Amino acid sequence: MRLHDSTASSLSQPEKLDSEVTHIHPYGCGRILREDSRGAGLRRWMGRRRSFAHVEIDLMRPFMLLIKPASADCNLRCDYCFYLEKCHLFSETKRHRMTDAILQRLIRGYLLTDQPVYSFAWQGGEPTLMGLDFFRRVTELQMRHGRDGSSVSNGLQTNATLIDDEMAVHFAQYSFLLGCSLDGPGEIHDKYRRSINDKPSHADVMRGIEALQRNNADFNILVLVSQSNVRRARTVYRYLTDLGFLHHQYIPCVEFDEQGKRQPFAITGREWGEFLCELFDIWSPSDTRVVSIRNFDTIMSKLVNQEATVCTMGCDCRQYFVIEHNGDIYPCDFFVQSDLKLGNVLDTSWEKAQASPVYRDFGVMKSQWNRACEICPHLDLCQGDCIKHRNYMGNEPTNISWLCEGLKTFFQHTRPRFDELAEIIRQERNPWSILDTGG
Ligand code: SF4
Ligand code: SF4
Repeated sequence: MRLHDSTASSLSQPEKLDSEVTHIHPYGCGRILREDSRGAGLRRWMGRRRSFAHVEIDLMRPFMLLIKPASADCNLRCDYCFYLEKCHLFSETKRHRMTDAILQRLIRGYLLTDQPVYSFAWQGGEPTLMGLDFFRRVTELQMRHGRDGSSVSNGLQTNATLIDDEMAVHFAQYSFLLGCSLDGPGEIHDKYRRSINDKPSHADVMRGIEALQRNNADFNILVLVSQSNVRRARTVYRYLTDLGFLHHQYIPCVEFDEQGKRQPFAITGREWGEFLCELFDIWSPSDTRVVSIRNFDTIMSKLVNQEATVCTMGCDCRQYFVIEHNGDIYPCDFFVQSDLKLGNVLDTSWEKAQASPVYRDFGVMKSQWNRACEICPHLDLCQGDCIKHRNYMGNEPTNISWLCEGLKTFFQHTRPRFDELAEIIRQERNPWSILDTGG
């Protein structure tokens, strides 16, 4: 059995577009959305639409696991984090930690299924609160239960503040790919990413990242795009690249209060579009082979391979399962809510979870997009956007994405250049095609 990384395809390494890529959740550690503002509306809609759920699931289609071993527990209190409040679902204890019994059942059960790659994504809250011994146990169990010839990948999303050399050595040894949340230089990052005592966290994050660098652990940077940096794409990009961080992912901060008013740290669709355009204009002239931007790599993968490497670009949300610390199973990180619980790893088989009508109804909502999307020239890439951006404040999933205006601007601005880059990669893969066509 092989433990390997789950690095997504990268323009900077075009040959990787041929390699195995995993359908993976598109967002990093800093995510936003309050259950109160969306859950009831979504469930209501799912009930009504049940008879329209026409896509039947193939039993045991490949899936990955997004695991929250410490639930929503975290040593930081980022203003925009949507997951912190999930502790109310597990209010019987204040401290949430996955037991060894759950971990064993989870790893053994998953490794008994047939998957091209067994993908474990460790997330939170802050998963490193579990401590190094937990992750030693993870890899021990994976090695013990993995069948000959099988391939396992581990990803871990973290605020990086608790990572020391010992932990970094383990992550490097077992090829974990870490996603470290860093919103830019200190004056940007520290605006919303604060400790429990309201202290800045930037210096601690950098200490953790330096430990990863010292020990050759693989990591990329997750940037939450909020009001602290949405007008500073160039500053953030240059800051990261000057530090030698060449793998980025940018995540839009979309959040509303209980009255449906946009939160002060959240961004508008137009702002998101302007940010992405500026980023693209900095990156595309000279950095396409040097800097990997996940947001752009996924577009290239769709154009070159016709493959959606993130769930937002697919037309069905049944891509992975979220596993909470107590073994409870949910369909999506943004929809960990009691009415969407699919079972528990202790008493629910993966087949049963996949075949669940709740899961089916959840999955097919992705393609029940707004009528405007049907005639949109960008539907092939956008796929109506994530349900989270459509269903906020109890809206129906047919609601147009909150980010639509910006997405349109971005696709209009960048599509010709993306098509050009895609053609270059096709020709690099098959240089004889020019001769074949007489070109
Ligand atoms: S709602 Fe669908 S597209 Fe959005 S994050 Fe969840 S699985 Fe992905
Ligand atoms: S850009 Fe807007 S209209 Fe077009 S597919 Fe995306 S959400 Fe729909």
